[in-house]
Amino acid sequence: MDYAKANKAIILYDAAYVAFIRGEDIPHSIYEIEGAREVAVEFRSFSKTAGFTGTRCAFTVIPKELKAWDKAGNEHSIHALWNRRHCTKFNGVSYPIQRAAAAVYSPEGQLETKELTDFYLENAKLIRETMEKIGYTCIGGDNAPYIWIYAGVDSWEFFDMLLQKAGVVCTPGSGFGKCGEGYIRISAFNSRENVVTALERITKALT
Ligand SMILES: *Cc1c(COP(=O)(O)O)cnc(C)c1O
Repeated sequence: MDYAKANKAIILYDAAYVAFIRGEDIPHSIYEIEGAREVAVEFRSFSKTAGFTGTRCAFTVIPKELKAWDKAGNEHSIHALWNRRHCTKFNGVSYPIQRAAAAVYSPEGQLETKELTDFYLENAKLIRETMEKIGYTCIGGDNAPYIWIYAGVDSWEFFDMLLQKAGVVCTPGSGFGKCGEGYIRISAFNSRENVVTALERITKALT
């Protein structure tokens, strides 16, 4: 917050995985941090929370306090700019999808999405435990639906090896930028049966 204020920077905070947070000490929104309303935009999505990928329904929080400065040093309201852009260029999410998104906040919807995210977190736990058991260092899979695995070789080399030897597709970490190089990412978004099969094949191929 201090950096953003001092440098007139805006923090773009992507909270796509908020529904997977189980730890009591982990914040759910950047606005839990004092002063964030003046410097941060938060993205929220139904994609991972409720299996909405493809329905294109999400929302963006632009606080009225948020300001930006142009080259001449003039102050502008991001809220006003975003509102104008959104009202002009976006035709809206279809009504059936809006109703489905609203249902996420109903008591049943809250129960069902919790059940769904719990299920994926169990997949994540299985993946992480198996990869650690066969000797890989892992990050994630708790409070998140993805497991990052330190490959020890470059991301694409590991990707090819896993594809050829185990018939399993992962995501090369280098696709996320240079800090991801040397890692691969495995997703927990699948049926239990497919996860178990993939882990059996990985174990057989890598041990
Ligand atoms: C899936 C994902 C998104 C996409 O959200 P949409 O609402 O489907 O566009 C954004 N950020 C991260 C980190 C994601 O994993």
